[in-house]
Formats: sequence, C-alpha cells, structure tokens
Amino acid sequence: TQPIYRDDDADERDITNKTVAVLGYGSQGHAHAQNLDDSGVDVVVGLRKSSASWDAAEADGLDVATPVEAAEQADVVSMLVPDTVQPSVYADIEDAIQPGDTLQFAHGFNIHYGQIDPKPGVDVTMIAPKSPGHLVRRNYEAGEGTPALLAVHRDETGEAKSEALAYAQAIGCARAGVLETTFQEETESDLFGEQAVLCGGVTSLIKAGYETLVENGYSPEMAYFECMNEMKLIVDLMYEGGLGEMWDSVSDTAEYGGLVEGDEVVDEHVRENMQETLDRVQNGEFATRWIAENQAGRPSFNQRHHAERNHEIEDVGERLRGLFAWAEQETEREPEKTEA
Ligand code: NDP
Ligand code: MG
Ligand code: MG
Repeated sequence: TQPIYRDDDADERDITNKTVAVLGYGSQGHAHAQNLDDSGVDVVVGLRKSSASWDAAEADGLDVATPVEAAEQADVVSMLVPDTVQPSVYADIEDAIQPGDTLQFAHGFNIHYGQIDPKPGVDVTMIAPKSPGHLVRRNYEAGEGTPALLAVHRDETGEAKSEALAYAQAIGCARAGVLETTFQEETESDLFGEQAVLCGGVTSLIKAGYETLVENGYSPEMAYFECMNEMKLIVDLMYEGGLGEMWDSVSDTAEYGGLVEGDEVVDEHVRENMQETLDRVQNGEFATRWIAENQAGRPSFNQRHHAERNHEIEDVGERLRGLFAWAEQETEREPEKTEA
C-alpha cells in the first residue's frame, strides 16, 4: 500500500520561508491563497487588472498583482487559472520564473499532454486537492483537511517534494492525507473518472433511466424522483459506509434486483466502451480534441452544453425541487463549480 503523508511528515519552514504566487482566484485559487496566508506563508495573487477576481482577492485582504509581477516576486508559482488558459498564462510569465523556482499545478493536463514545457532549472510539482475549492477553504477554517495528491514531475533543487508537502500542509491537506502519484496517473485517472463515471457516466445513466420510464408511459414526475432525486440518497450511503451500507439500507427486494439487473444494464459492452474512453485519454486523442475545440471557439461544447440544459428532466426537476423548502435552500446557495 502507498504511504499517506500527514502533518508530521511535513516541515512548514519549507514553505513559510518562500513567497507563493497564486495565479487565479477561482475555485482552487481563492482557497489556496487564503489558506496559505492564514498559515503564515507570504502570498501574492496574480490576476488580470480590473477583473472581478482582483477586487475579490483584495477584499479578502490579499496582495494582488498581475501574473507577471506576482511570478517575479515568487519562489513558487501555483498555476490555478483554468486548464485551457494555462499555456498562454505560462507564456506570459515564463521570463519571470527563475531557475530554482517552482511551477506548481493542481491538475496534470498541460504538463502531461505537453501544452506547457517549463524551462530548465525549474521544479515542477503538483498538489491536487481531491475536492472543489470551496471545501478546501471550508475544511481548513473548521480545523479539518481535504485529501490531496502530490506529484513531482521535475526536481532540480532536490527539495521539490518537501516543498510540495509543506504547501499541502499549509492549505490543510496534510491534516487529511496526501497521496503520492505521478502527473500521468493523476491526469489520466482524473479524466477517465469524470468522463466515464462521475460526470459523464452518471448523467447518461440518469437520462437513460428517465427516458426509458417516460417512453413507457410513466409520468415524468415519477421518473424524476426514481432516477434523479433518489440518486443523492443512494450515493450518500455509499459515501458514508461503502457499497455495503447502501445495500444494507435498501430492501432485500432492491438488493436482489439491483445485484441481478445492475450487471445486465452495465454489461460487457459498457465495459468495452469504458476501455475505449480510457484509450482516448491515454493515447492523447481526447486532449487533442479538447484543445482543438477551444481553438475553434467551442462549437461542439456549446451545442452539447445547451442541449443538456434543455433536457426535459431539467424542467421537471426545477418544478419539483421548488416544492421542497430544503431543496429551495440548496438551489439558493451560490453554485460552486466543481471539477471532478
Ligand atoms: P477557475 O475556473 O475557478 O479559475 C478562474 C480564475 O482564473 C478566476 O480568478 C479568473 O480571473 C482567473 N483567470 C482566468 N483566465 C485568466 C487569465 N488569462 N489570466 C489570469 N487569470 C485568469 O479554475 P479552477 O479553480 O476550477 O481550476 C484551477 C486548476 O485547479 C485547474 O488546473 C483545475 O484542473 C484544478 N482543479 C480544480 C478543481 C475544482 O474543484 N475546481 C479540483 C482540483 C483541481 P478573472 O476574474 O480575471 O476571470
Ligand atoms: Mg520568481
Ligand atoms: Mg478533472
């Protein structure tokens, strides 16, 4: 089994004696910057001038500068702008990064697929919290932590790993546990997971189940409750106590039917499809397509985005969720973008 690093394995001085530039103040950026600051690390946030993020970071009491100015001051540059804009931001700041500095990521896409080729002499590391940024911040403030992955792509100073571990400690992740991985493993498993299971797989499963019931004459409201609303309750049980706690909580009829029919639905053919999805991640086909899609102004992304928002289950859901006070509160909360 893999070692899991905790607070005792890190030395805070490996990061408190450095200046960290956090580029971006979105989901991850705001959490890393504030947690580092609260942990006594010298932080400067790097952002485009006169952006909403600039005002937000300043309002939170942080020093803000342009990405180039921030990188000039920094020993560690944490690349927390969206993955699709990282290559152009890197091109802007490359001259501001000195040998002996560190370029750090929270996801390996641009290094693994060769979209950023850091200049020689620079350490390249990753601390990837396994949760949306708002939880990284909330857990830290509560004295708790968020698990994270650590990877070292390049270690020119001999201190890349101890520094990354200290960074993980300073944002609270070593309270929960830090697992060592590689840029390749993190990137490929993250993309596969979000495509096949978490984001893509689960939404397609929900829509297929909903449509099957509605096409057979069952009411959309019934289909919504059955295929979408209850999903959360089932997943919560698995999150708390594994598959076993979920099976123990449902009726024996549901357990028998689920065990027998689950593999009929997600059958050998689905596994073959998953293998092909993984193949496209591994051989770079997905990355190439996504990069080209962005260069072309996202025509396919936009079309699919709108089709998904216009699916009938969204109207049914909006109407039904409105009936419940607790659901209303959920939707009133500011939506937080999460990257699986
Ligand atoms: P966001 O989309 O939340 O980042 C938005 C921030 O980036 C804003 O502050 C925005 O500022 C700034 N920004 C956008 N373009 C530029 C630019 N050209 N120059 C300077 N700043 C810019 O990113 P995430 O936090 O979602 O992702 C950051 C990294 O973390 C990614 O590598 C992602 O894969 C990884 N990650 C994300 C997770 C998540 O839960 N979101 C989980 C784990 C890893 P402005 O106001 O100017 O637009
Ligand atoms: Mg520097
Ligand atoms: Mg992801």
